[in-house]
Amino acid sequence: MAARILDGTKLAGEIRAEVTAQAKVLALSGVRPGLAVVLVGHNPASEVYVRGKVKSSGEVGLYSEQHTPPESATTEDLLALIAGLNRRDEIDGILVQLPLPAHVDAKKVLLAVDPAKDVDGFHPMNVGYLSTQRPGLVPCTPAGVMEILKRSQIPVAGQEAVVVGRSDIVGKPVAMLLLNQNATVTVCHSKTRDLPEVCRRADILVAAIGRAGMVTRDYVKPGATVIDVGINRITDPKEFDRFFAGNKKREETFLAKGSTMVGDVHPEVAEIAGAITPVPGGVGPLTIAMLMANTVKAAMMRRGLRHPELTRA
Ligand code: NDP
Repeated sequence: MAARILDGTKLAGEIRAEVTAQAKVLALSGVRPGLAVVLVGHNPASEVYVRGKVKSSGEVGLYSEQHTPPESATTEDLLALIAGLNRRDEIDGILVQLPLPAHVDAKKVLLAVDPAKDVDGFHPMNVGYLSTQRPGLVPCTPAGVMEILKRSQIPVAGQEAVVVGRSDIVGKPVAMLLLNQNATVTVCHSKTRDLPEVCRRADILVAAIGRAGMVTRDYVKPGATVIDVGINRITDPKEFDRFFAGNKKREETFLAKGSTMVGDVHPEVAEIAGAITPVPGGVGPLTIAMLMANTVKAAMMRRGLRHPELTRA
């Protein structure tokens, strides 16, 4: 039987509506949550992401501003910029768009963001809060994964969860969130032996690898929930055929645009999984929605207001 498709676009819409309502309540007490996005240099992919974040902020009623230092900006320039944003009370969230130019000490820059305004949840302080189950700001994509599970009524407690990928941005925080919600968690990476066999144990399989369609049907227990975090652009017609042969709708876009997106999970997995997130339209839309949610959460936490936790740590 074909898998239930977990519609991230719809779920992100629900979250945005909730954030809009929260922003309206805050406006009654004169608070407009503010997000500052720092985009260094000219990276076309980053520019697209940042545009999306700024647009979405306006739509849910948040204030946002963009800072665009030149490619030549030094670590010290960026530290000075962050220090200024940390001081401004009307800025609740600071997001430094990655990657930063190679000559910049990215770790130092991220460490300079006030943890209370760290809406990406990358600051070691927030990482520590997450791992010790204290209230804090949780990275957006992992928080989005948990929202998909929760809002799709997929049980987590007591389930076998396997996360493929151990990055600080996705794999590790997803694993921590699943563990905090009482899943039995296995984290896999490039040195894991017998990866398909380990993955087949999963009731919940999260793929955050960055390799087009690597998770094929032999990685998946029939009926499992599969969350595909991967975003991979493919341009090679042979590769297209490997994933989407016979899919007329995809073929039309591929021919028109010369590329299409595929996740880390092969589309054939939808034939045996119980539930699966599509790419595009799965985890991706949740990431920006959770950034909006984190900005409101930061605004409320900074003012000592109670926040109706979207994702419990
Ligand atoms: P990273 O490259 O930082 O991490 C990839 C992880 O996958 C590493 O832990 C790596 O292992 C592991 N890995 C790589 N190859 C293999 C393999 N052959 N077998 C097993 N494990 C392997 O990527 P990110 O975590 O930043 O991103 C992962 C994917 O998610 C990407 O496709 C990215 O585009 C996407 N993404 C999507 C977002 C969204 O909004 N939907 C947001 C962020 C990312 P090791 O540690 O041993 O090297």
